[in-house]
Amino acid sequence: MLREGAGRIGGSIARLLFPPVCPGCQTAVGQADALCPACWSGLRFIERPYCEVLGSPFAYDLGRGFLSAEAIANPPPFGRLRAAVLYEDLAARLVSALKYGDRTSLVPLMAGWMSRAGEELIAEADVLVPVPLHHRRLLRRRFNQSAELARVIAGTRRLAYAPLALARVKPTRSQVGLRAEERRENVRGAFRVKEARRGDIEGRRVLLVDDVFTTGATVSSATRALKRAGASRVDVLAFARVAAGTE
Ligand SMILES: [Zn+2]
Repeated sequence: MLREGAGRIGGSIARLLFPPVCPGCQTAVGQADALCPACWSGLRFIERPYCEVLGSPFAYDLGRGFLSAEAIANPPPFGRLRAAVLYEDLAARLVSALKYGDRTSLVPLMAGWMSRAGEELIAEADVLVPVPLHHRRLLRRRFNQSAELARVIAGTRRLAYAPLALARVKPTRSQVGLRAEERRENVRGAFRVKEARRGDIEGRRVLLVDDVFTTGATVSSATRALKRAGASRVDVLAFARVAAGTE
């Protein structure tokens, strides 16, 4: 009780010294780890109607279970994809603040939105696996944003979390600015399930966690590696996705 009291006092002092700011625009807000109303309205949360496979929003409600033309023409190797928000303006700023600015205070907020968007996927998953960085990039950056998001989701939903099961064995260059075909080539064979961790994956339903879904090249390559190691199913949960995937 004493410690709890001290924690509360510590918290009030911290609030006096560092009044909470909006993680989107740095203006003062009343409550820690909350967006200001302007930023809140700048995020586009993805809601149904959307493609049941790719989670891409539809302009019209065509009824539950309807698939996008893209999902029919090019079925992805993973089962379903869900993302919390569309990747534009503020969503993009939040992702880069997390990735390059070590703004870890964003993690619970973003993970909470992902949990909500991925409700059905989480309910059916056995284990959460983040898309890994290559160890050299991890050393440089010290922080894998997808792993931090996955760790918080797994913790709050009491799910198994296997951050070391999947490894990025090929140092790939950034996907930014590459065409769809180049992206696929760039990440081909980039992932492998470590032999010693095969038990985390074999026969299990895996929920793969990434920060942004663009063409799907990265998560498709990671999905193939997980399936080669015996995953019975792979779904994908991202924080943000571009309006329409192109893979
Ligand atoms: Zn703001």
